[in-house]
Amino acid sequence: MAPDSTLITGIGELVTNGPGAADRGGFAAITDAALVISGGKVAWTGPAARAPAADSALDAAGRAVLPGFVDSHAHLVFAGERSAEFAARMAGRPYTAGGILATVRATRSASDGALRANLRRLAAEMLAAGTTTLECKSGYGLTVADEQRGLALAAEVTPEVTYLGAHVVPPEFAGDRAGYVDLVRGPMLAACAPLSRWIDVFCERGAFSADEAAAVLAAGRAAGLGARVHANQLGPGPGVRVAAEAGAASADHCTYLTDADVDTLASAPMVATLLPGAEFATRHPYPDARRLLDAGAAVALATDCNPGSSFTSSMPFCIALAVRDMRMTTQEAVWAATAGGARALRRTDIGHLGAGARADLIMLDAPSHTYLAYRPGVPLVAAVWQGGRLVSGRL
Ligand SMILES: [Zn+2]
Repeated sequence: MAPDSTLITGIGELVTNGPGAADRGGFAAITDAALVISGGKVAWTGPAARAPAADSALDAAGRAVLPGFVDSHAHLVFAGERSAEFAARMAGRPYTAGGILATVRATRSASDGALRANLRRLAAEMLAAGTTTLECKSGYGLTVADEQRGLALAAEVTPEVTYLGAHVVPPEFAGDRAGYVDLVRGPMLAACAPLSRWIDVFCERGAFSADEAAAVLAAGRAAGLGARVHANQLGPGPGVRVAAEAGAASADHCTYLTDADVDTLASAPMVATLLPGAEFATRHPYPDARRLLDAGAAVALATDCNPGSSFTSSMPFCIALAVRDMRMTTQEAVWAATAGGARALRRTDIGHLGAGARADLIMLDAPSHTYLAYRPGVPLVAAVWQGGRLVSGRL
């Protein structure tokens, strides 16, 4: 082993997710296990009794070790908060896409420093709760300069940066939707593509139509970006179809699906990313995860962390909701929150702990992954390693 190698032994349950992150539903775990980290990667996993020697050793004392969570859908570049809107909604007012504009106003008038501080606070909160990879979208700027600024800030905390100029039509273009779509797929895209890996569109009544979304995604693809879509969140619609036609890596939300949508998700090389924090915070019905899984679709779980419709940064909370209210098994939910998220980001180096994977892993203050749903709301993530380095926690 290399001189920097670390052996973690005495692992009660080691969730490895099998040899490759690309297997659908490939949850796998070893009991009484050990793992060796070397050069920032997983060098070996297996039974503790057969563990090789390493430069240093750590006893997990029966606790569980899992791949770090991959949160493949988050909106962290914003200013302000909307707790009053949440309280009013809980008192009976419905959620509509229009609330986004309140955050757009606050974000445009915020300083770089204020946006950066809020972003870093949320990213640190996620890391402490076990999220070792996060995706981060723009979408609260909606001018060329403000979108560019949001993406540059996002790139400070993650390589998974998503240009979401097509979040909503801003008020100054209320009388000229076509003009805004031309801006998003023209000059704004030209300014934002160099800062981004992905392009996303909110394809929904009150946001962008199928034709508008397809035009934006096509321009993004031509500029070298991968596609993702906010699809079928608030009602039935064309989002999933548009995502498949654009070759998207993921259709996100998938709350209101027809049988044809489910067939599309099961047959396309595309992940259905479910965001139960949004249904929790808007009192919409949860997506039917069972229907998707039984059809053979690959499912990811993510937070959708944003100040309007889902202000949680906690993947363990989403796992608990998925198990309790979406009829996912604990194993399916953990796979979806790790390997599923990796697949939604088309990454094979994360989301699993096979030899050669990036050493992004978490240790729970619990003997198995089941506790993430069994003990909801309890901070069970005891330690977090990113690229083999201990970055958070108590051992
Ligand atoms: Zn979203």
